[in-house]
Parts: sequence; C-alpha cells; structure tokens
Amino acid sequence: MKTLPNNLYRGYRQYASELEEKALEILRSGHYIMGKELALFEERWAAYNGRKHCIGLANGLDALWITFRVLGIGSGDEVIVQANTYIASVMGITINGATPVFVEPDEYYGINADRIEEKITSRTKAVLVVHLYGIPCQMDRIVHICERHGLQLVEDCAQSHSAEFRGKKTGSFGVVSCFSFYPTKNLGAFGDGGCVLTDDDTLAEKFRIFRNYGSQKHYHNIVVGANSRLDELQAGLLHVKLKHIDEIIAERMEIAERYHEGLHNSKIVKPMVRPETKCVWHQYVIRCEEREKLITYLKDRGIDTIIHYPIPPHLSEAYQYLGIKKGELPITEKYARTVLSIPMFNGYTEEEQRFVIDMINDF
Ligand SMILES: *Cc1c(COP(=O)(O)O)cnc(C)c1O
Repeated sequence: MKTLPNNLYRGYRQYASELEEKALEILRSGHYIMGKELALFEERWAAYNGRKHCIGLANGLDALWITFRVLGIGSGDEVIVQANTYIASVMGITINGATPVFVEPDEYYGINADRIEEKITSRTKAVLVVHLYGIPCQMDRIVHICERHGLQLVEDCAQSHSAEFRGKKTGSFGVVSCFSFYPTKNLGAFGDGGCVLTDDDTLAEKFRIFRNYGSQKHYHNIVVGANSRLDELQAGLLHVKLKHIDEIIAERMEIAERYHEGLHNSKIVKPMVRPETKCVWHQYVIRCEEREKLITYLKDRGIDTIIHYPIPPHLSEAYQYLGIKKGELPITEKYARTVLSIPMFNGYTEEEQRFVIDMINDF
C-alpha cells in the first residue's frame, strides 16, 4: 500500500460534482477577473471569520508583503516574528526593506509570548504571528503585549483557516490577517490564491486599490501597486468549498484524534493542543531524534512523509545577510532537525491511517 503525505485528488473528489458545475458556469460566463464570484466569496469569507472586509489577492505571500506595505512598514523598521515558520512569512517583511526580529517558538510551535517583549526596540512596528500547522498562537497574551506597546498585530493564517482561540477565529485578532488558498491549505483553491481580512475601512480601501495597479478607477493610478487579484474561477471554487468548510475541518480533526490516540512510541513526540483552542491540523507534525532513520523506515513501507521545514529562514542562503549564526535560535533549530509531517489530508481513509499508525508504533 502506497501512502502519500497529501493527496489533493481525494479532496477534490469529495465535492467533484459541485466544483465541476461551478467551474463550467464560470467558464461559460465570459467574466474571469474581478466579478461577482470574487465579491460573493469575499463577503462570505469575511462573515465566516467575523470580520468586516475580505480582499482577495493572488497568493499568500502577496497578502503578507502588501500588508506591510499598506501599513507603511519598511526600511528602518523592525517586525517581530517567530523563527520557525515558512519563509514566506519572513519575505513578507523583508520585501518591504523591514528587518525581521526572530523569536523562538513555544512547545505548541507558536511564537513564545514570554519572549516577545525582550525583542521590542524603538524601531519595532509590528508583531507577525503564525498559527503554524493549524495550532493557534497564545493570542490573549500577544494581543495584550501589542496593545501595551502600540504595535500592529498581523496574523499569518495560511495554515489556520477555521482555527479558534477561546472561541474566536484566528484571523480575527490582527489589524490585518493574511491567508493563502494554495491547494494544500485547509481551504485550498485549484491554483494560487490568497486574501487579507480587516475591520478597518481605510486599510480595506488601500488593499483594493493596491491589488489593481494602484487604481480605483480605470487608468487613474494613485499609488504604485501590484497586480494581485483572486480570479473568478478560484473565488467561485473556493466558495463551493467554503460551504463545506466545517466538514472539511472536522475530518482533519478526526484524523488528528486517531493519531493522538493511536500513536504510542517513546521515540516520538506528538503535537499538543494548546488549551482553549480549536486546532485544525494543517499538518500533523511529530518529532523524532532519529528522523532520518524513521523517514527511510516509513518509505520502505510505502509511506511518504515531508519536513515542514528543514531549513529555518535565518539559516537559509537568502537570509545570510541578516548575520544570524547557527546556534543562536536553538529551539527553532532543534525543531528543524526533528520535525516530521505524517500523512494528513481530506479523504485519508481510516484503513490507510491504521497502517501508518501501526508502522510508526513498530519503529
Ligand atoms: C503557504 C504559506 C504562505 C504562503 O502562501 P502562498 O499562497 O504559497 O504564497 C505563507 N505563510 C505560511 C505559514 C504558509 O504556510
């Protein structure tokens, strides 16, 4: 039996007829960019998250860098961000010329709230939290720290669609929250996609102008913007999936529950649910000191796994200019050496999962 870490076809198949009907409708409409599908999806996604505005964008990285641009954060400014994240979070900061200031994660893979204040300087403008793997960060503490120091709070929710901290959705805490709809994400498109959420009318207007070449009215360009639009086909297909999002997330939570209950191996550290949160398991990430052996052992049994992420941003070639040396962020580096994402996707059968659990327990 062959088990992939993710099988997107299964997720498509669950809603195939609805998706195909919508795709055909849009193809036959003759309208492909900035139309009613986008407007409707934006309205519904904002409402689902309890926010006033959603602005569809081309992808998650655009959501991040355009956010810092629109907030006026750039050269000479610092943004506090957790060190263990996908590199896009950091690029969203550095594309604007701002400096990322890294904070180590806590045991739930989120930014360690106890270690934020020691990194605040006169140049700090914002804190970017990443609800990594679908586990919400410690939002009560972080909101409080940002308020006390007058910092903008931005959320990277690329992995946390529908997750909650004390009954409140991730994406409803930040002045702006950034989402990706990359196909593997919990709410995934059939191509690239992204968006931002905000309650601020002025910021919302700035995003709408920025994504369309800096223009509100055709050929009247008021700022140097970008071409970053969520197209009709993606918006329409996302809306189909949005109608089923609670089922999609519930299935992932059931899979995670079976792992929690079934995995018993002293060589493996399972992920933990932060108290008072709803974790949505974008990935189910275990840790193992003998990771390379485990990967090979599983591969020999037909089970493919992935590492999220093997090289932390500060050690990547792209960020050598920051001058952060190996060993300066030991928790992040330990996680990068030991984390392993085991299969987790919609349509993963119980039988397939039992086999994976048995094999890991026998390791
Ligand atoms: C996927 C992801 C992004 C980037 O999204 P894209 O749509 O691929 O540009 C940003 N941050 C995190 C944490 C992600 O997982």
